[in-house]
Amino acid sequence: MPITSDTAVAAIFGDPIEHSKSPAMHNAAYAALGMSRTYAAFRVTAGNLGPALRAIHPLGIVGVNLTVPHKQAAARIIKDLSGEARMLGAVNCVVNRRGVLRGDNTDARGLERDLRDLGCELRGRLAIVIGAGGGAASSVLACIRLGASRVVIANRTPARAVALARRFSARGARAAGEPRGLDALVDMELLADARLIVNATSMGLTTGRFARLDYNSTPTDCLFYDLIYSREPTEFIKPALAAGRRATDGAGMLVNQGELAFKLFNRVAPPAGVMRAALLKALGLLQD
Ligand code: NAP
Repeated sequence: MPITSDTAVAAIFGDPIEHSKSPAMHNAAYAALGMSRTYAAFRVTAGNLGPALRAIHPLGIVGVNLTVPHKQAAARIIKDLSGEARMLGAVNCVVNRRGVLRGDNTDARGLERDLRDLGCELRGRLAIVIGAGGGAASSVLACIRLGASRVVIANRTPARAVALARRFSARGARAAGEPRGLDALVDMELLADARLIVNATSMGLTTGRFARLDYNSTPTDCLFYDLIYSREPTEFIKPALAAGRRATDGAGMLVNQGELAFKLFNRVAPPAGVMRAALLKALGLLQD
């Protein structure tokens, strides 16, 4: 659809933002639906989050996704939060409801849906989440919802793992998170029980290397899930595949959280498969 004076706008705020595949996914869905809407990416620095959020309503922006470094800060600024955003202490989408900003979070539901699609049966099993930031919080919630009996939170800074575990136990979660340091990744006894290991850190992305992890101690049905998505297998995934384990990156979670956000912003679901195909094209994994 051509952009006209009637075209409504949705957006993503982040810093950096150039790498974001969300504009490709959302604009593909608008095109498929023939909607006069467009989705733009704005580089919003941490210091400018407040003014940028306050501009959403005056500019008539229908909804905004938030990415690094804004998710937790937005949960402190926005008053009207969904139960999930409150539980996670993080907002990844803001819906403009006639001037009232509603903060929600679709990351946990996005991961939960992808794990279900992958047939990852967690009932009564152990999941290990590496990290203690926003992505890790969403991962812990997804694991609890899928019925995991134990969720170990392994983080470089153990105090942050303790704080995240407390967040869930204070809110009466069925399986409390068990905080650990990264030593958990070489604890052979623990690894021998793991049905799922999620990387919710930026390790491998920024440092080029992943922490030491004893892949061979995991059971053969252990699924390795990296929240990072990329064209090539990530530093977390490569050794898992070499050890003969199933492994996947976070592209499915990204598509799912995007589809859920699209519905919140536009009150209509995107056509099935359109956002996924747009992501794969943007990653260079699918030709036109
Ligand atoms: P965050 O809140 O900033 O948390 C970063 C985490 O990474 C912390 O636990 C931090 O540990 C750990 N970390 C960073 N560098 C490390 C290193 N060199 N060694 C060990 N640990 C390190 O970030 P986030 O929002 O949770 O995002 C984490 C990752 O998930 C990012 O790559 C993000 O792109 C991805 N993500 C993907 C999706 C998706 O849809 N696929 C959704 C959400 C997030 P400390 O606490 O010790 O600093």
